[in-house]
Amino acid sequence: MYSHDLAELDLAELEQSLESMGHPRFHARQLYQWVHKRAVTDFAEMTDLGRELRASLAGAFRIVTPEVVRKEISSDGTTKFLLRLEDGHLIESVFIPDTPANTFCLSTQVGCAMKCGFCLTGKMGIIRNLTAGEIVGQVRVLTRELSMLQSRFNIVLMGMGEPLHNYDAVMKALRMLNDEHGLAVNPRRVTLSTVGVLPALERLATEPLMPNLAISLHATTEDQRDALVPINRKYGLKELLDACRRFPVKRRERITFEYVMLKDVNDTDEDARGLVRLLNGIKAKVNLLPLNEAAGIPYERPSDARVNRFAKIVADRGVTVSVRKSRGRDIRAACGQLITESARQKTPAQQLAAMLPIS
Ligand code: SAH
Repeated sequence: MYSHDLAELDLAELEQSLESMGHPRFHARQLYQWVHKRAVTDFAEMTDLGRELRASLAGAFRIVTPEVVRKEISSDGTTKFLLRLEDGHLIESVFIPDTPANTFCLSTQVGCAMKCGFCLTGKMGIIRNLTAGEIVGQVRVLTRELSMLQSRFNIVLMGMGEPLHNYDAVMKALRMLNDEHGLAVNPRRVTLSTVGVLPALERLATEPLMPNLAISLHATTEDQRDALVPINRKYGLKELLDACRRFPVKRRERITFEYVMLKDVNDTDEDARGLVRLLNGIKAKVNLLPLNEAAGIPYERPSDARVNRFAKIVADRGVTVSVRKSRGRDIRAACGQLITESARQKTPAQQLAAMLPIS
């Protein structure tokens, strides 16, 4: 395969490519619109480009789009897409309707290296990073499959993977999505969720194009977080919260702190009070995630009464708190349940085969 993947290029790169092929730069905008705004991937359909140009482009480029292997629709309308990448690896993307906006939950890696104790994706380990084109490609697939090219949607980077462990591709994808010649997704509609890879978080703080930030906190002491979120042993809770204090949060905006609730582990009244103390001085809101239980996860979900009492303690101390309704649990599309079939059902030999490039 010698042709370049056009879907991998941002507008500036596309302009350079056209120029080096001897074509006028302005065609790059037309091309970008076809691919990103209209989800067209066949050069023959790009009718405002001349025949010769189309032939030349078709010779030089391919346009790679993740392929839908399966689509599962939950009773609550949440739709999980199993997507196959060009090299055969599988990822999942989820559409969550009206929460109140329509939301796309995107993956940033195949698997995840963070190994949080309650997360199924973590059990897969890291297989590889997604490219910017593959991250943006999930949006192209979902908008096409759901007939949403003209609709507004939010994006949460809360699928498989740790976005700050794949920094360059994630930021390039956000710039590509934001481009006015593409879908012009406002970064305020994007939320990046992270365990807190500190050097990358510090870098994010300097970006001109800034998504909303969500921190997967999940614990109120160093020891507790060391046990649940292993990267805490490298970048501890205190340093993480200090970085959050320094993070440039716009007026009227807040950092979301996600807190997975595990029965008898981190769900006590004392934990709730500790959480509020930790967030002192940070423009914060708390999102409680009662555990989505799964086979192989050694924790239990607290009762609704316990979750509500925890939430009340936090709210009574003046911190905005919400409890995440679990969407798509019947199709295993809920938080921390994204794990691709190859890892879920197959034998080691089948898993290996699934990792080999398909010819
Ligand atoms: N790696 C990033 C992006 C994943 S977001 C991050 O950790 O922030 C997915 C969110 O769901 C994270 O807050 C994660 O901790 C949480 N989660 C993982 N497993 C879960 C489970 N079984 N039940 C509820 N939430 C879970």
